[in-house]
Amino acid sequence: MASITFENVSKQFDDFTAVKNLNLSIDDGEFLVFVGPSGCGKTTSLRLLAGLETITSGHLYLDDRIVNKLPPKERNIAMVFQSYALYPHLSVYENMAFSLQLQGKSKGAIRRRVETAADQLGIAHLLKRKPKELSGGQRQRVAVGRAIVREPSVFLMDEPLSNLDAKLRVQARTEISKLHSKLQTTFVYVTHDQVEAMTMGTRIAVMNHGILQQIDSPENLYNYPQNVFVAGFIGSPAMNFFRVHLIRKDAQLFLENEDFSLPIPESLMAKYEQYPQKEYIFGIRPENIHDPQYEVADIMPIPVKAEVSVREMMGNEIILYVNTMGGEEFVARVDPRSPLKAGDKINLTFDMSHIHLFDTE
Ligand code: ADP
Ligand code: MG
Repeated sequence: MASITFENVSKQFDDFTAVKNLNLSIDDGEFLVFVGPSGCGKTTSLRLLAGLETITSGHLYLDDRIVNKLPPKERNIAMVFQSYALYPHLSVYENMAFSLQLQGKSKGAIRRRVETAADQLGIAHLLKRKPKELSGGQRQRVAVGRAIVREPSVFLMDEPLSNLDAKLRVQARTEISKLHSKLQTTFVYVTHDQVEAMTMGTRIAVMNHGILQQIDSPENLYNYPQNVFVAGFIGSPAMNFFRVHLIRKDAQLFLENEDFSLPIPESLMAKYEQYPQKEYIFGIRPENIHDPQYEVADIMPIPVKAEVSVREMMGNEIILYVNTMGGEEFVARVDPRSPLKAGDKINLTFDMSHIHLFDTE
C-alpha cells in the first residue's frame, strides 16, 4: 500500500515540456485516472512514477519518501502496458512467474501466487498456452495477472483496454474495477477515453498539453468543470458553447448574442451578480436543452429559435443537431417521444438552472 505525491514535477525532453509543474496527491488505495487527449503527457506521468523516466524538476513521493532517484525495481510498483508486452516465447505461466523468479522466490511460492492470480482472473485453464494462442481479452488478463503476482503497493495501467473491441472493453472495465475493490491497492490508470475515466475513477486528473487542468470526482468534473477544456472533454455529446455578453437590464441579468437573450434565473442571480459584465463563453449540456412539448416540470425554460439539421434516434433519447438562426450549431438530447426531425423550424428550450460561464481566454 502506498500514497503518491507529485510536487511541482516537470519532465522536459530537450526543449519540449511533456509534463509541466504537476502537483497532485493520490491517496493510499485510491483509483486515480489520468485522462486527456493523445500527447498530453499521461504516459510520461506514469513512467515518471514507475521510475522509467527521470524527473527534470520537482519531487515525487511514495508515502513520505522522496523517490526521484530510486530505481524502478525498488519502488514496488507494477505496470500494465498498453501493448501488454508479454514475452512471446514464454507460456502464460512463465510470463506470470518471470518477475518472481527474478526476485528469487521459491518454486512453491511462485506456483501459489501464479495459480491464485490466474483463478482470480479466470485464466487458470490458459497457463500452458503461448501469447499467440490467446485472444486479445485473454492477453489483457495475462498482462494484469503478471502485475498482480508481484503484490505491488501500486498498480499502474496505461490504456490497458485500448486494444479490445467495444463490448469486451466494457466488460474488462468492470473487471478491473472489481479487482481494485478486492485488492484495495492504489491504482493509477491512464486512458484517453472519458467514459472509461468517468466510470472507473474515484478521482480523475484531466490533462492537456502537459498541464493538469482539474482533479476531481467524476460528479464534480461533470457538474463543475473549471475551464472550457474540461467542460468540452467530459461528457458525450460534448457541452455546447456560445459566445455571449453578460449584461444588466434593470434588475435582471441576461446572456446575449445575435441569437438569444437569456435571462439568468433568480436562483443564480447572487452568483452571477459577482461577475463583471463582459464577454464570456456560455456552456450548456445537450441534456439541458429540451423539446418544449416534453418539458421537465421544475425548470425555467427559455425558448431559442432554431432549425434541426440531423436527428439521431438512440432508443432512450434523441440527439438533435441544430442550427440557430444566426448559423451557430449546437446539439440537444431530447425526449425519445419527440417527433422533431431535420428541417423543422422550432423553439427549443434551455434549462437555465444548468448553465456554465467561462472566461474567453
Ligand atoms: P500521452 O500518453 O498522453 O499520449 P505522452 O506522455 O506519451 O502522451 O507524450 C507527451 C508528449 O511528450 C508527446 O508530445 C510526446 O511526443 C513527447 N514525448 C514522450 N516521450 C518522449 C521522448 N522519449 N522523447 C521526446 N519526446 C517524448
Ligand atoms: Mg500514452
